[in-house]
Amino acid sequence: MKIAVLKEQAAGETRVAATPETVKKFIGLGNEVAIESGAGLHASITDEAFAEAGASVGKAAATVKDADIVLGIQAPDEKALKGAKSGAWVAALFDPFSDTARVEAYAAAGLEALAMEFMPRITRAQSMDVLSSQSNLSGYKAVLAAADTYGRAFPMMMTAAGTVQAAKAFVMGVGVAGLQAIATARRLGAQVSATDVRSATKEQIESLGAKAIFVEDVAGIEGEGSGGYATEMSDEYKAAQAKLVSEHIAKQDIVITTALIPGRAAPVLITDAQIATMKPGSVIFDLAVAQGGNVEGSKPDETVEKHGVKIIGYANTPAQLPADASALFARNHFNFLSAFWDKEAGKPELDEEIGDAIRLTQSGKVVNERLQG
Ligand code: NAD
Repeated sequence: MKIAVLKEQAAGETRVAATPETVKKFIGLGNEVAIESGAGLHASITDEAFAEAGASVGKAAATVKDADIVLGIQAPDEKALKGAKSGAWVAALFDPFSDTARVEAYAAAGLEALAMEFMPRITRAQSMDVLSSQSNLSGYKAVLAAADTYGRAFPMMMTAAGTVQAAKAFVMGVGVAGLQAIATARRLGAQVSATDVRSATKEQIESLGAKAIFVEDVAGIEGEGSGGYATEMSDEYKAAQAKLVSEHIAKQDIVITTALIPGRAAPVLITDAQIATMKPGSVIFDLAVAQGGNVEGSKPDETVEKHGVKIIGYANTPAQLPADASALFARNHFNFLSAFWDKEAGKPELDEEIGDAIRLTQSGKVVNERLQG
């Protein structure tokens, strides 16, 4: 099989879908790997390093020519894939609910789109899950960016000139990113609290040494629900949550929001009126800013100041850590394809559970259940 990796074209995208480590591993499975020249530069991987690992490095057209599998971070424009084999697989992020035009274009081009963000949340797919690997880094980076913007220190410091108080940090949404945000803020010395709609997270928050702040009088999500994801909450829950948050955030210095609902705009967790109750100089990092935002008024890649509070958030947070984000994403790709490798056939054969979950297009049609109707 020929596996191709192109230079990412999306604005601000610094990651690359393969590393010398995964190139070697794919070659070890009997494949040929082609990389577009310059694809790894933002992630500190030179063309020479890819070539040393055994890849052929060249122009985009030569890279995709006769490719059986194309790996990407964000799915390339289908026009860039002319020359790939008919029915070639493209494994990448497709943003399938929003970017329906791209999915249709892939179907029309006869390509098989495999959306890595649709990887099911099952134990055996954990090592293939790009949302987890990237969210983990995002949670870390959000805390560092907030700390950097904050005009005070995180840890308590006892100095000859007097005591510096520890910062109070509050994490809203305790999935993969939120857990890492709690751990990072704790390591920096902040006093950390956190909340979620899923009651299963309470124990996780406490096990990281943070305080759990939960709506107690209205039922939240008891079990893990479908794949561990949250759903839209009732109006009654939202009102109780707003009250709880209002009381709590007025005392916080740092707030990190991470709440997402798959296939929908991110829920608004902090309104302008609530921001007004916070102390001037406080910082909010909105990790959901690219999905509509958890914070009223947040803007991707901008520092918005409201009522003396700075609100920040990146359009693409993992792209702020290109080397590690690429290394993990590339391993997710390798773990995925190698798990399905049929040695005799010399190519991967997907099973139904994972194949049907992530396949968006096949034989000229949009085939994914989640995109029907
Ligand atoms: P996510 O990125 O979809 O959402 C982030 C968090 O926001 C979630 O914890 C969610 O419950 C929370 N949230 C949503 N609406 C909210 C609201 N209104 N108020 C407060 N919080 C709100 O979540 P995620 O990081 O992808 O993780 C979700 C779960 O899936 C976790 O339990 C995680 O451990 C699990 N998971 C399992 C696997 C696997 O088994 N392969 C892989 C990844 C994650």
